[in-house]
Amino acid sequence: MPSYKAPLRDISFVLKEVFGTDQLRSLPGYEDLQDTDMDAILDEAAKFCENTLFPLNRTGDEEGCHFENGVVTTPKGFKEAYKSFVDIGWSSLSCNPTYGGQGLPLTISTIFTEMISSANSSFSTYPLLATGAYHLLEKHGSEELKNKYLPKMVGGQWGGTMCLTESHCGTDLGLLRTKAAPQADGTYKLTGTKIFITSGEHDLTENIIHMVIARTPDGVPGTKGISLFLVPKFLVNDDGSLGARNGATCASIEHKMGIKASATCVMNFDEATGYLVGDLFKGMSNMFVMMNSARLGIGVQGLGLGEIAYQNALAYAKDRLQGRSLTGPKYPDKMADPIIVHPDVRRMLLTMKALNEGNRMLVLWTALQLDRSQSAKDPAAKQEAEDFNQLMTPIVKAFCTDTAFELASLGVQVFGGHGYIRENGMEQYLRDARIGMLYEGTNGIQAMDLIGRKLPMGGGRVVQTFFGPVQAFIEQHKNDEKMAEFVGPLEKAFGRLQQATGLIAQKAPSDHNEAGAAAADYLKLFALVAHAYLWCRAVLVAKDKLSSSEKAFYQSKIETARFFMEKLLPQTGTLAVNIAAGAGPLMNFQDESFGPF
Ligand SMILES: Cc1cc2nc3c(=O)[nH]c(=O)nc-3n(C[C@H](O)[C@H](O)[C@H](O)COP(=O)(O)OP(=O)(O)OC[C@H]3O[C@@H](n4cnc5c(N)ncnc54)[C@H](O)[C@@H]3O)c2cc1C
Repeated sequence: MPSYKAPLRDISFVLKEVFGTDQLRSLPGYEDLQDTDMDAILDEAAKFCENTLFPLNRTGDEEGCHFENGVVTTPKGFKEAYKSFVDIGWSSLSCNPTYGGQGLPLTISTIFTEMISSANSSFSTYPLLATGAYHLLEKHGSEELKNKYLPKMVGGQWGGTMCLTESHCGTDLGLLRTKAAPQADGTYKLTGTKIFITSGEHDLTENIIHMVIARTPDGVPGTKGISLFLVPKFLVNDDGSLGARNGATCASIEHKMGIKASATCVMNFDEATGYLVGDLFKGMSNMFVMMNSARLGIGVQGLGLGEIAYQNALAYAKDRLQGRSLTGPKYPDKMADPIIVHPDVRRMLLTMKALNEGNRMLVLWTALQLDRSQSAKDPAAKQEAEDFNQLMTPIVKAFCTDTAFELASLGVQVFGGHGYIRENGMEQYLRDARIGMLYEGTNGIQAMDLIGRKLPMGGGRVVQTFFGPVQAFIEQHKNDEKMAEFVGPLEKAFGRLQQATGLIAQKAPSDHNEAGAAAADYLKLFALVAHAYLWCRAVLVAKDKLSSSEKAFYQSKIETARFFMEKLLPQTGTLAVNIAAGAGPLMNFQDESFGPF
């Protein structure tokens, strides 16, 4: 049976020792936020995830959601768990106090999202989408809409969705057909069908607030004619009570590979009453607020799944006895050595450990900058943090979910044939991890976003928010002999990234296929360099604390960093070569040559 323990020691290391919580306290509103307060919240969050959500993970996967006559029922125990989630106040953690939120940093809710995702990835999708809808409405809604809807969304009594996808359009939303007809009273009637809508219908909340993109009669074809509407499942009276059922109904739910306890719905909008959010025709750009928040959340979901896969693979590798160490028995009193003695098993475990811990640093670095971008008083600091988030969002989303799948697969491999058997739990993590690479924009689209939008953004100003600190770090530490084995590989990999960036900037403007062909490799190269930089920062901290009572913990950090530098970072060489090979090998290949023959 799998188990889960929230990795509080590592979270604390990253938050307090690598980055420092003073960063948060320097922001207006958080001056009095003490480490002890954050510890207490995270301790409680850990208990909730370990004791309430984790036990429902496998049963939820086995049972899945039920659909009957338009009604969706979540698996046994989910309703009670959601009620506890709301009663304790988890839904309002980082929401605006004006609407009943607790006003805590987004960094704290990001850490909580990692824990929920490890414990129960399906469950995580309900609050994740509701939070995205909250951010969208808070940023773009009128005062009237905000006052009417946000308090119940913040309180968790009402859920939220993001309704973009239609059967003929997923990536290319400009093709959408859902119509919004203006009414004399200023509302709209929405008609159309959306598919794959996460938590479109369920029994966890009394109302569901759908954020729907649609085209008004005067909306031009393509994304420029799209507007955004709030469409509640139940209409809301002026006093906030629930009114008549709106014309937004669930036609069916999907039967999926993973996250089976998350309801994925086909939603019919049949002259459903909707309210315009933001300006007409700004639907797509406004929706990006929600997508950016959700993309970061999906990356964090990947981190959570990689973490639980590692925890269970590690426990199994220490327990399972097979064969003897290549250099002679390590545990002669046992009938065989535990598989952790074998180099190949250690390769898998260390890959999981290094990438998880690197991803955690990457995620929390981004989350801290998100808080800075929202709360910093100084406009320059705010802009810099906003730029950094723009740059890192596709990297966190794509790299953390790509690695989640890779690590969940390694987790299965460590278990051998037993990893393939349902009751051992590992195959569920693999299935649950697969969706992260697809939804909120496929990872191919994230890579295109990085290379096509983020690199040129602000004339290079945006990319400089990463290149600047890395360059400065290398300059500062490259003559430090004690850091040479870490800073040397970072410098080499960073050089490859700079060179690849220059090459793309030179080739892509005259041939866009060059950008498209390089995108996936470039995103991975970027992420690995970011990991290398963060591992260097972690090593600096760890080296200073080797004489503390936690020597084993800090020693493990240094050794993991060494493994990363020597065994994983060299991939940047191959990635750089692939990028330099350009679009030719892909685009010169004739369509007919693919076959079939
Ligand atoms: C379980 C689940 C939950 C979901 N939840 C939601 C939700 O809550 N709300 C919502 O609106 N949607 C949701 N989706 C939809 C999801 O976001 C889309 O499936 C996804 O964006 C991809 O769209 P598509 O499936 O139509 O694939 P397509 O757009 O048809 O893409 C197919 C392939 O072509 C590639 N491709 C397409 N265009 C390009 C291009 N221009 N350049 C390079 N490659 C390209 C893609 O990367 C992909 O590999 C969900 C999907 C699933 C499966």
